[in-house]
Amino acid sequence: MRKNHLLLIAVTATLACTTRTISTSTDIVPSASGLAVIPAGTGWLGDPRIGLARDVALQAALADVSPARLRATDSALVSFGTRNTFSDTLSTTRGVGAARRWLFAQLQQASRDCGGCLRVEYDAAVIKVARHPQGASANIVNVLGILPGRDTNRVVVMGGHYDSCVCSVPPNGGVDSTSTAPGADDDGSGTSAVVELARVISKRYPKGLDATVIFVLHAAEEQGLLGATHLAQRLKAEGKQVVAGMTDDIIGNVIAEDGTVDSTSVRVYATDPDSSSSRELGRYVWGLGALYLPGFEVVPVFRLDRIGRGGDHTPYVQAGWPGLRFTERLENYKRQHLPTDDLEHVNFGYIAQVARLNAVTVVSLASAPALPDAVIARRENAASGGQAWSLRWTPVVGATRYEILVRRTTSPSWDRVIPVSGGLTQQLDFQLDDGWAAVRAVGANGHRSLARVAGPAPRPAAATPARP
Ligand SMILES: [Zn+2]
Repeated sequence: MRKNHLLLIAVTATLACTTRTISTSTDIVPSASGLAVIPAGTGWLGDPRIGLARDVALQAALADVSPARLRATDSALVSFGTRNTFSDTLSTTRGVGAARRWLFAQLQQASRDCGGCLRVEYDAAVIKVARHPQGASANIVNVLGILPGRDTNRVVVMGGHYDSCVCSVPPNGGVDSTSTAPGADDDGSGTSAVVELARVISKRYPKGLDATVIFVLHAAEEQGLLGATHLAQRLKAEGKQVVAGMTDDIIGNVIAEDGTVDSTSVRVYATDPDSSSSRELGRYVWGLGALYLPGFEVVPVFRLDRIGRGGDHTPYVQAGWPGLRFTERLENYKRQHLPTDDLEHVNFGYIAQVARLNAVTVVSLASAPALPDAVIARRENAASGGQAWSLRWTPVVGATRYEILVRRTTSPSWDRVIPVSGGLTQQLDFQLDDGWAAVRAVGANGHRSLARVAGPAPRPAAATPARP
């Protein structure tokens, strides 16, 4: 608990620095000369919106997210008594089988409402559960609602896990198949949000977006991320490019055990290293939150997950893709993995806000072009004595232009956005030894890709080692 407080204090301090200089304009505003020097000092003076532009149609869609529907979905999930991976699969009223068939039907209904735009599937595999005391196998069944995009190879994954457990009572390994495990917050909250996202986004975008979106209700998270691992590996084997693998997990509690209340902020976990694609995804969500939901604070946390905890974004990160976890600001471990994880302690107005943040993330990522496959930084030794750098990058289908982003190594997000005048190369006005640079693609619709951080050109096999 003490560690959590320190973390919150640190994050709050960071945010306090960032809010001072946020302007009201949502346009990209480069410095007058385009050559501004990044200010000295330790406080970050940047704008977390990092030049992202608001899409008015997407903003309007956020009003469709309904707390009442979220409550109805979560109430139905709780009514199945337990959704433990080893619970009854044949009953129509109790257990994990009834729950997944009900979820499948919800996605089918959403598909009917958008003219059949969603492909609804079970993604099943019989998997040996290592955490089971006798090493039993279980039928692990993810439920998918797929909104095909113009590019079916690029995939945005938005998930929650529908299984629940009473697993805080050791040493049952999460395999207690009969005790009532309502899982209203963990993770009825995230599951309800994903079902609502499938409904809202498919209705607004029945012809799909540029990238494909998979709304997934993952199975067997509580037995070691088994459903998400299965789907991530399947997408890898199919040669898909996952734009982002994201999970809503525990997004409905707003009251801590000591009575502290926070219904206006949410944590997003974006793992190390600082130049990773997951960290870039975290910055992107932070920016979108500030742009579309200024009254709802995104609290970026620069680590994979809470200390000692895990979630369904991890298998996507391990597969080499950007991954992210959305989690309520204030958790209460007295109501997780226990019969006390009930509906009375879930705030559906809060889940709706998280779902809106999810919606702007999913639609923005899926509406944007891909990011460049490679961005190469080169020191211009001959011309500048080592002071100047240039970037070059690979072209992106559908990009109408590109933007360069730069920041100091100590800045939490990008300090500046530099429009590219044309072509696939540009000289930097920035000493790259002291920071990071990245390139992103901009579509004709104004949506930005994630940024690809620049790295050195790959060294030939017999290259001499770097100079000390
Ligand atoms: Zn969970």
